Amino acid sequence: MSDELFLRDAYLEEFEARVVNLAGREVVLDRTAFYPGGGGQPADKGTLRVGPVQAIVVDVRREGGDIVHVLDNAIPGKVQKLKGELDWERRYAHMRYHTALHTLSGVIWNAFSAKVTGGQMREDRARMDFSFPEEWTADVVAEIERLTNHALAEERPVRVYDLPREEALKNPDLIRTQVNLVPERVKTVRIVEIEGIDAQADGGTHVANTSEVGGIRVVGTRSKGRLNKRLEIVLTGGEGDEPVE
Ligand SMILES: [Zn+2]
Repeated sequence: MSDELFLRDAYLEEFEARVVNLAGREVVLDRTAFYPGGGGQPADKGTLRVGPVQAIVVDVRREGGDIVHVLDNAIPGKVQKLKGELDWERRYAHMRYHTALHTLSGVIWNAFSAKVTGGQMREDRARMDFSFPEEWTADVVAEIERLTNHALAEERPVRVYDLPREEALKNPDLIRTQVNLVPERVKTVRIVEIEGIDAQADGGTHVANTSEVGGIRVVGTRSKGRLNKRLEIVLTGGEGDEPVE
């Protein structure tokens, strides 16, 4: 079992770890800050190194309780310890977009009782799909954007904590998300909560306060069928973001 450091500290950029298993270009460490992907958030990239030995982490995946780092080239089999370093700019962008999508989903639920059906974030944009019961107009989209930016600007703290499964199942906010899909053998559920906006069972990485997200701008919309809607967003207000208009 790899110790998943990113669950406790999303801001960890560097770490040291012992090699547990090394097979060709794949390495398992006893602990890692590399996120293996999931919940719409891509796997991290970065480097693993020790002395003159260095490899680029091109992909990361979860395999049972292990996290497997896929390297660009094989490292010598005698290596026992490695220092990991994330491509932090990319990961931090994922954290901001992830938190933006949670805020968006909370706003859409609170204002329109619409449930999220999927989402995908990237370094420079994100999209969210939801089942939207009302008429889909430019005004509605503008209102969603306005409400989301308002919520983000309120500098709301983002909290991460574990809840016993039974307790999580009693929370109506959590029921609308994925908690009811958590297998019964799982005794505690990791909750990511944006104060007053949204709470979800979630294994991803997020920023600590909505102020770090900045703002959003809706850059695309799609309507597939009566209920199935999509919003595409970019972030504004951070370094390298789209300028605010
Ligand atoms: Zn999430």
